[in-house]
Amino acid sequence: MIRAVPAIAAMAGYALAELDAPGAVSLAQNESAFAPSPKALQAGQKALADAALYPDPDWTALRAAIASVHQIPADQILCGAGSMELIGAIIRAFAGPSDTVLGTEFGYLFAATASQQAGASHLRAPEPSLVVSVDLLLAAVTPDTRIVFLCNPGNPSGTRILNADILRLRDGLRDDILLVVDQAYGEFDDQNPADVLGLVTRGNTVVLRTFSKAYALASARVGWGYFPPAVASETRKLLNPNNITGVSQAMAAAAMQDQPHMQGIVRQTAAIAAAFTGRLRASGYEVPDSHTNFVLIRFADGGAAKRADAALRSAGFMLRGMAGYGLPECLRATIGTEAAMDAVATVLEHLEGDTDAP
Ligand SMILES: *Cc1c(COP(=O)(O)O)cnc(C)c1O
Repeated sequence: MIRAVPAIAAMAGYALAELDAPGAVSLAQNESAFAPSPKALQAGQKALADAALYPDPDWTALRAAIASVHQIPADQILCGAGSMELIGAIIRAFAGPSDTVLGTEFGYLFAATASQQAGASHLRAPEPSLVVSVDLLLAAVTPDTRIVFLCNPGNPSGTRILNADILRLRDGLRDDILLVVDQAYGEFDDQNPADVLGLVTRGNTVVLRTFSKAYALASARVGWGYFPPAVASETRKLLNPNNITGVSQAMAAAAMQDQPHMQGIVRQTAAIAAAFTGRLRASGYEVPDSHTNFVLIRFADGGAAKRADAALRSAGFMLRGMAGYGLPECLRATIGTEAAMDAVATVLEHLEGDTDAP
């Protein structure tokens, strides 16, 4: 009998959203409702001609574009096949059996999966009212803690803490604990990115970003991180040497250079999210303030959330159930087009008595 190593045999695979309804509009994976930059599409077309060649293993043009926009050194950037690849590599490099990765109650589930892949334990600090608490995170640190994984703004909560609180978190952690700040939705946040990027120079903080959300390139699979040099060189060993296709590198570099396009996506997404949230709150739903391209909708209970999900599916919309996050009474709605969100709001307005209103 062929057996996997115990940590792998004991774990479940990472559960992506169910996308089983052909023809339905997916609002389940936080994909952009808007198209990528036309310059990215053009660059990708052009790069197709070199498909016979291996891609640049050093992501040279892509790193140069990121470095110039974010004003950070290119040699401290690593690129991954999605930031998920970077999350997995960081956790495997710095946490093993008998080590603990500390996340938050409603933090990104993939960090837990990646910890299991590494044979490490994954613990969660409580998030009262769906917002990360720096004090409760610090209180949950133990001598086994090797990594603290913070998603800010958070998924699936959509909420965020202030950069000043992230600095306070770093100040309160032991120097030998690696702090990973996953900013997959950072472009949707209005805080100055330099505050958190600046922590990297202390040597024990990594900041992760992705092209999958605000840059509308989820299928290209490109994420990046800003690393202290010593953390970068260890993490690099765990990445596939030719991890990002030439087409994807070309698309991401061009998308990074087209900041106005990305900013337009962020602006339009925020406007649609505000209108959608306003309608839902007006009919009594509890919707936390979101700093992302999705909102979390809270129903009276798990049954009400299931009924809403069923009604939305029959109307052709797939949201993301949140039972996996311990929030069975919630659905997460990616912000789609204005027409899609109007239709979703209309369905929800007609579900009587299922809101969380007192
Ligand atoms: C979407 C998302 C990512 C990005 O994943 P990619 O692999 O870059 O597509 C990372 N973290 C969080 C919290 C996310 O929601």
